[in-house]
Amino acid sequence: MRGEDRAGGTDAAHRDRRLARMDAFRRDMLELIREALATLDPDAFHRHLLARAVDVVPGAQSGAMVLWDEESDAYRFVAAVGYDLDGLRHLRLPAKLAGFEHPDGESTPRIVRWPRPSPPELGREAVAALSEHGREGEIASVLIVPILRGERIRAFLTLDNFDDDDAFDDEAVQMGRLFAGHVEVLLQRFDLEADLQRLAFHDRLTGLPNRTLFLSRLERRLAEVGRGPWAILYMDLDNLKPINDSFGHHAGDEALQIVAQRLAELNAEGHEVSRLGGDEFAVVVDGAEDEAHRVGRRLLASVQRPMATEGHTVYLGASIGIGLYPDHGTAATDLMRRADVAMYQAKTRLGRNAVVTFEPTMEAAPLERLLLEEALRKALDEHQFVLHYQPRVSVATGRIRSLEALVRWRHPERGLVPPGVFIPLAERTRLIHPLGRYILETAAGEARRWRERGFGDLRIAVNLAAKQLERDGFLSEIDEVLGEAGLPVQAVEFEVTESVAMTDVTTNAARLAALKDLGATVALDDFGMGHSSLAYLRDLPVDVIKIDRTFLSGLEPDDPNRAIVGAITLLGQSLGRAVVAEGVETRAQWDAVRAIGVDEAQGFLLARPMPREAIDRLLERGDVLVP
Ligand SMILES: [Mg+2]
Repeated sequence: MRGEDRAGGTDAAHRDRRLARMDAFRRDMLELIREALATLDPDAFHRHLLARAVDVVPGAQSGAMVLWDEESDAYRFVAAVGYDLDGLRHLRLPAKLAGFEHPDGESTPRIVRWPRPSPPELGREAVAALSEHGREGEIASVLIVPILRGERIRAFLTLDNFDDDDAFDDEAVQMGRLFAGHVEVLLQRFDLEADLQRLAFHDRLTGLPNRTLFLSRLERRLAEVGRGPWAILYMDLDNLKPINDSFGHHAGDEALQIVAQRLAELNAEGHEVSRLGGDEFAVVVDGAEDEAHRVGRRLLASVQRPMATEGHTVYLGASIGIGLYPDHGTAATDLMRRADVAMYQAKTRLGRNAVVTFEPTMEAAPLERLLLEEALRKALDEHQFVLHYQPRVSVATGRIRSLEALVRWRHPERGLVPPGVFIPLAERTRLIHPLGRYILETAAGEARRWRERGFGDLRIAVNLAAKQLERDGFLSEIDEVLGEAGLPVQAVEFEVTESVAMTDVTTNAARLAALKDLGATVALDDFGMGHSSLAYLRDLPVDVIKIDRTFLSGLEPDDPNRAIVGAITLLGQSLGRAVVAEGVETRAQWDAVRAIGVDEAQGFLLARPMPREAIDRLLERGDVLVP
């Protein structure tokens, strides 16, 4: 076929065909990267790469892909066309063969045509292995295409031909080189994604499995028939806050890392340790109550040992609650809640540094909670809630694109109560519904006023809690409230945190889609906090991704966070989402998000959340905010 091709066409037509093939290849690669990034299936990715190479490089009939494997310190076969991959998969080509030095003394690895000149040792090993597991007949020519990472060969392709001992011409070499260049770039992105994936399931500070991974392991354990008894130990550290307050967050972080190292010893014994967030940890222990208590006391002892952080010796304590499977529940939520209730008892009744097993009498509501709940009801009646608004600006123009409505509770005696305290309480007591309605009504009224005053495309962003999203009739309420306020739904953006969207992806994705159908914009808030896999980004019906502020902490050119923000931006934008950086507080962060190409930014450097009147004054001076 290929022989006829060459004889029949003119050089120009021939080149055109090659270019068209290369073009198709580029388009195909873009598709592929989206697929591969979303599924993170390296096998499929390699298989597809190799198939494309065999397709696109003239003269190639079959081939194989060989990848450097960090773990086994050797190269191994990961894909094959025309060969039996199962036979090749277990082979390891030793690292000492890795030098792809050309016989002429050139040190840069380069494409090699065989039999002229002879291939490097590594290539020869690979071809020998292929000869054993290939189709019938002798391999007549081979093209070896190395794929580099820095100076090293991270992978190579061997493409071959069984009929012609001069099958690969200069153009084939050129195509091979182009192909390798593309693949090198793709693999870099793939690496970043794999890092992100790892981050999504592990806590960044301590490296321990995070809440997401913990819950998914828990579900798997619960699905195993006949497994048990076992226990969840829920541990909350005491004293971390004073350490943060007196020595700074750095000391607190260091203490958390030391705790994690000590807990990791338990991991080695087969107990599963995770960090659920903040100063909360969970350990799953196989065995009955006695064993759970024994491990709990060991945990406590290891946390209580003095810790030498930078410059200070600090002391921590812990309160530990135990929930037993199956005695205290057979569902993850029940077991977690009950271990949590027991932990709360350890903290409040026993004065900390205690290990307590759950008992049903513990579930009565504590008095403090009742009092706060009462106060929350009163607050709604007495209009103690106020809204502040924080601008979000276009990174390119500095124009204010939207204002995020943030609720504040001014308690007459307690002062300002942080949302972190009263929103969860409002959710538990269903007071979130009247509170949510109040927020939407107020924000919509203000937004209409600002739009009437000449800021016609200004949008308002409203945060939604899980319970609001889940409620039946929520959509018609939005319709009704906005109708009364005289604000088109297109002027409203709803922010849902990643953790909320992920709690029940299928159902919540449908609810978010319904919000979009209504005409509203939907934003994924606090993205990257470790709740979701990037795979969901593709499926979640959101228009905007707000990268969590923790990623903005280090954005110097060589900081890993910068690569992460870059990768989320790249992926987000390639999926057609607008990407927003939260928590821009310094000039350097602003410069970095501009360089990365983030669409919009929000943070103290640009503007703090402020009352309505302050927004009025700000807008009077014009709607451009440039630091
Ligand atoms: Mg928000």
